[in-house]
This record gives sequence, C-alpha cells and structure tokens, in this order.
Amino acid sequence: MLSTMQDTPLSIAQLLRHGSTVHGDAEVVTWTGAGTRRRSYAEVGRRCAQLSHALRTLGVTGDERVATFMWNNAEHLEAYLAVPSMGAVLHTLNIRLFPEQLVHVANHAEDHIVIVDATLLPLLTPQLPQLTTVKHLIVTGDSADGVEAPDSVQVHSYEALLADQPTEFDWPEVDERSAAAMCYTSGTTGDPKGVAYSHRSIYLHSMQVCMTDGPALKQGDRALAVVPQFHAMSWGLPYAAFMIGASLIMPDRFLQPEPLAALIAAEQPTFAAAVPTIWQGLHQYLEQHPQDISCMHDVLIGGSAVPPSLMHTFEDDHDIQVLHAWGMTETSPLGSVARPPAGTEGEERWRYRYTQGRFPASVQARLVDDLGEILPHDGNSVGELEVRGPWIAAAYYGVDAPDKFHDGWLRTGDVGTITPDGYLTLTDRTKDIIKSGGEWISSVDLENAVMGHPDVIEAAVIGVPDAKWDERPLVAVVLREGSGATVDTLREFLSDKVAKWQLPENWTVINEVPKTSVGKFDKKRLRSQYHDGDLEVTRI
Ligand code: AMP
Repeated sequence: MLSTMQDTPLSIAQLLRHGSTVHGDAEVVTWTGAGTRRRSYAEVGRRCAQLSHALRTLGVTGDERVATFMWNNAEHLEAYLAVPSMGAVLHTLNIRLFPEQLVHVANHAEDHIVIVDATLLPLLTPQLPQLTTVKHLIVTGDSADGVEAPDSVQVHSYEALLADQPTEFDWPEVDERSAAAMCYTSGTTGDPKGVAYSHRSIYLHSMQVCMTDGPALKQGDRALAVVPQFHAMSWGLPYAAFMIGASLIMPDRFLQPEPLAALIAAEQPTFAAAVPTIWQGLHQYLEQHPQDISCMHDVLIGGSAVPPSLMHTFEDDHDIQVLHAWGMTETSPLGSVARPPAGTEGEERWRYRYTQGRFPASVQARLVDDLGEILPHDGNSVGELEVRGPWIAAAYYGVDAPDKFHDGWLRTGDVGTITPDGYLTLTDRTKDIIKSGGEWISSVDLENAVMGHPDVIEAAVIGVPDAKWDERPLVAVVLREGSGATVDTLREFLSDKVAKWQLPENWTVINEVPKTSVGKFDKKRLRSQYHDGDLEVTRI
C-alpha cells in the first residue's frame, strides 16, 4: 500500500526561502582583517536572486557547473545557495590543489563559470588557458579590470553583474535526487574524485547537523566556519545555518591564529568547526597572548583523529567542550559524533569522548575483514569501516571505482572497532597501519600518546621498512621552542603508555609536520622525505 503523504521535494531553494525570511535577521559576518562586512540573511536572499538572474544571462540555464575558487565569505555563501536553487550545480574548487590537479578537476567537472576571489587570481589565471570548458570568470572583491584571461573567457565583476538584477527569483522545482553541489576528494592517492551531492542528501544532512546527537547547531548560534567551504562543503555548516537560523562567522583569508583570535574576540562565536591543526595553532598562540575564548560552547573537530591531550587542554585552559567527529567528503561529511551516553560521568565520559563517536539513525555502519566477512560490534574486532545512508556517496562522478564500494556500502579505507553501544574507534587508515612482525601497530595510537607529552606540539607516525620486522614505526616530532626533551626522554615517556613491542626506535625531530591541502598530516609526503633521505633519523 502506498502512503497517503505528500511528496514535496527536499531542496536547497527551500532552505534559501526559509532562511532568508523566517531567519532574515540572522547574519553572515565576513572578517576583513581589520573589521567586518555584515549581511543579513534577508539581504543574502535578495542577492542570491540577483546572482541567479546574472548567471542566467551568462548561459546557466540547466545543470551547468558553476565553480567557486574562494575563501569562506558572504559571496561564497551566496553561490552556495543561489547556484543549486536555480537548478545548476555548485562546484567548490580546492584553492590548495596543485595546478595540474586543479586543471584535471575543473575539466573533469566541465565547469562553465568560475567565481573567484580577487586575492586568489594569481593562483587561478595561469591555469585558465588549460580550463577548456570555462567561458566566464566572475571576480569578487577588487575590480576585475586588468585580469589576464584567454580570449575564450569573459571576465566580469561580481558586484557589477548583480547591480541591476531583480531581487526576486522564481526558483524552479527540481528533482530532489538531482545534483546540487560537487566536491572532489583531496586526492592523497591518485587523481581527486568527484562526489555529487543531491538536494535531498544536503537537506537531510543539514537536519543531522542540527540534531542533538549530532553537532546540535541551533537557532541563535554564531557559527565560526573555519573549515573551508571547499573541504566537504564546510562540513555542512552553511546549509544547516540557513535551515536553523544560526549566524555564520566567516574568516575569509585570515586563518592564522592571530587574526582568528581577533575575530573570536570581536564576534563572540558560540560554535566553531575546524581540523585539529587549526586548534593546535590557536592554543599555542593563546599561551603567549591569553584571551577568553569560552564563548564557543562547542568546538567541532574532525578530519583527523583529535589527540585526547588537545581535548583536555581546551576544556581545562579554555573552558570549551571539544566535540570529536568522523566523516569524509564521500559522507557529506557527517558520520559519527562523540557525544557520551546520558548519565555517564568523569573518566567514563572522557573515554566515550575520545572515540570517533556514534552514528546517527540515518547512517548504518559495519566492519569488514580482509576476506569480506562482517565482524561483530564487540569493541575488539578490528576491520575496515563501511557505511551507507541517504547522504553517503554511491559512486564517484564520471569514474569507475569498484574497489571503493562493496554491495551498496561505501568502503571508507578507515580501520577500527565498534562497541555494542555503537561507538567507533579508528585505529588507522588501511594504508597507514604499521605491520610489524605480523602484528598491527596503530599509528594514530602512537601519535596520540606522543602528543600527550607537554613539550610536543605535533607528532606524525609512519611505517618504515625494517629487515627483521618488515615495518617499524618512525615518529616525526615537533618540539616546543626551548624544550629540553630528547628522543630518549620521549621514548621513556611512552614506556607506560604503549606495549613494549610497539615502542618506536626510529625518531626524527622536524620543524613542522607537512600538511595536505585541507590541513591534515601529509604522511605521503613524510614517507617520501624519509625515502629520499631528507629526514635525520635517530635510531635508539
Ligand atoms: P576528507 O575526505 O579529506 O575529509 O578525508 C576523510 C578521511 O579523514 C577519513 O576517511 C579519515 O581517514 C579521516 N578522518 C576524518 N575524521 C577523522 C577522525 N575523527 N579521526 C580519524 N580520522 C578521521
């Protein structure tokens, strides 16, 4: 029997309509380095209509891809809302990709238009002659005069394009399963692969961002979105903010600890999201320049494992609760969130918070071993995590990747355990696990243990070849300035924290752990530095 219920499509246009009317007083605040630019959601709604009219005049009549090459700011938010609402597809380009990756991604997605921040033109214009499908460049910020572009590309100023357009738009009704936005993976192995999110998947994911078993973004929150809008859709914050009526605080290009601290002081965010390295940097800065940042009641951290030491530091020194979450570009990205069960206290509560967390009802998770057998959720059995659900990718755009999917489930490449009450603990990426004498060593466990030392700023662990054990861990460590710690004292520090056979004998002290285009530890680069003999390794 069919239900008797209505089947109105879930759409970005509905989020735009709702946010710009019901929550018209909420605002997007963009940091300028010295102050702010402010725009109410009502105004954003009018400007989205103007942008959509302007894009129609540039030939966007169907599902053309409109790319962005931008920082997090008000204009980027406008593109987020306007492009899918008019029926086109937003493609957020990662501004930190290598030139050849950028060319691959823009050509693969067949971008028709690129909206670019004036400050980022030097990174984009040299590649323009190779972007074979791009017909228009729309420049935000400074004047678009004098921009060097091939004859095939017309250059426009964003503000001039919007200026005389009507402030209302008759948003078309779109199939909720059609693509609304695209994001390519950061491509640490091979070419970046595209994920095309649907209106429906974004809508449902936005609801999860507001759920109390998720990040619990709520009306009246002031959400500091440090995670880039080109990294897994800024973890869904822009759309969720429009859905629930939370204001957005955008750092633009000012992502270093000092301007971030100034932005926090000026705008008093109540919620924030970024990868661990951003918070490590901010904490170090605040040690020298104390400032109360406890306005942020929740700080969502994910993208890599959050060291327990960082969670305690934020709680003890800054009175901030760190919310540990796991996700991927392929999962929109929200997967699990580490909220402890009601009624837990003290140490038990912390143990839950260290994990990658629990999945919401909409996302199913399972663990699979090397032979494809499903493993029990007993907190001990270790296997590859597979997930499925309405905001999880079923395929990549325009490429076959059969090894990434398994019977309708997404293979995450992450390895870990799940407890009977549903808490995921990741021990590693499949490719980062260290296989020592037939046993596995978790690089993440070692990193967390080393980063628990008060003199350690960062630590990344990779497996290096070993004649006797096949592979042994190498710890690359960044020490606090003036620290008296040595590799001997660090190893001694680890001796009661990890099993004896796991104690690393290979150490290297470096100035900074190399980072990927989205700010995570770049172990691939670290491995090639090791193989090229660029690291000074001490063997104990
Ligand atoms: P990306 O698509 O660039 O966001 O990368 C997704 C990958 O980041 C995941 O497959 C994990 O390997 C890693 N990741 C994300 N969140 C966490 C977390 N909380 N703990 C450990 N690894 C994480």
